[in-house]
Amino acid sequence: MNTKTMAICTLIAGSSSALFAGLYGDTPNATHAWAVHDNNRPNPSVIQAEAGKIPSDAVVLFDGTSLDAWVSGKDSGPAKWKLIDGAMEVVKGTGEIRTKQSFGDCQLHIEWASPTVVAGNGQGRGNSGIFLMGQHEIQVLDSYDSVAYADGQAGSVYAENPPLVNACRKPGEWQTYDIVFHQPVWNGDTLVHAGSVTVIHNGVVVQDHWEFEGMTTHCRRRPITKYENKLPLRLQDHGNPVRFRNIWIREIPSRYANTTHGGPGVKEADVMALRKETAAKLFAAVDKNNTVDALRKMLEIISYDKNESYMKAVTDLSDLYLSKVAATAPDKLTGLKGEIIAIRNDCNVLIRNNVVEENFKLKAELQKVIDVNGFEKKK
Ligand code: MG
Repeated sequence: MNTKTMAICTLIAGSSSALFAGLYGDTPNATHAWAVHDNNRPNPSVIQAEAGKIPSDAVVLFDGTSLDAWVSGKDSGPAKWKLIDGAMEVVKGTGEIRTKQSFGDCQLHIEWASPTVVAGNGQGRGNSGIFLMGQHEIQVLDSYDSVAYADGQAGSVYAENPPLVNACRKPGEWQTYDIVFHQPVWNGDTLVHAGSVTVIHNGVVVQDHWEFEGMTTHCRRRPITKYENKLPLRLQDHGNPVRFRNIWIREIPSRYANTTHGGPGVKEADVMALRKETAAKLFAAVDKNNTVDALRKMLEIISYDKNESYMKAVTDLSDLYLSKVAATAPDKLTGLKGEIIAIRNDCNVLIRNNVVEENFKLKAELQKVIDVNGFEKKK
């Protein structure tokens, strides 16, 4: 650990906020509510996850024992597909099934198997489908050693985009889809983003963040239209006895409608509102009896919100601190070396990000002290 880091660590140990290590990463801006490496940014929630097992925060839609999570798409009554060997099997003519629960953007895991006995060909062979939010079909088809149009093969976004490769296993073998789906984002009647899907088939990427061109249809191109924010997942009855098992889903935040952390859907007003909220929280926690701590916290606070009262507090605390430094006997100044450099570094981050002017007084004065006393001279 170098002297500078040690000095900062000493300051941290004595400060009221254990995580505050001074300004460091680029500060919040118009499209980012958080600094780079921001310790104020909320940490993700903790879940249990193990390869091959259902994540602890997933909603289990089918565990092999019942169709209770599903209803018939025809009459909203009980799903009429059959349970067999821990799987559900399409019963021809009973129609699609859909989840009772509605979902938006999601991660979906689903396993499927086309019939062991091959019957039919092309689109008539082991055909079913996974309709995300009931709108966009990821095709289920026996595409093993089979001839079918590319944009209708297993793993295709049906009628839009073929899978990148054909990763299909033999008829009757279990196969996995892991799907990451984002619905289209609208601002009023304007489509902000078409939404997207990533599909991993048997461990292989077959759809790489495909941005939807339209709504799933047959033969024609149909533009994206508005639908509800949450809708059931649907599984298709295409007349073939396709089986499904081990189905679970996790809702995930929209990366497009995420209005405070950058990205295509960012709204600057929301970013600023969150920045102000963070600044206010930090301000409420400032220890006003500790000049150095208060000054450094205020420098952080103005990186979120340069409102007049915060800026005045910075000016007042800067003057107070500079007068303390000026009043310190030359032989005692070394004792302040760590904090002086740390505060100067905070200033540098603010200058680098145009939060304060290049000639910011606090920085200029502390730099003079550092230079005159040779605090950064290499020995
Ligand atoms: Mg289909």
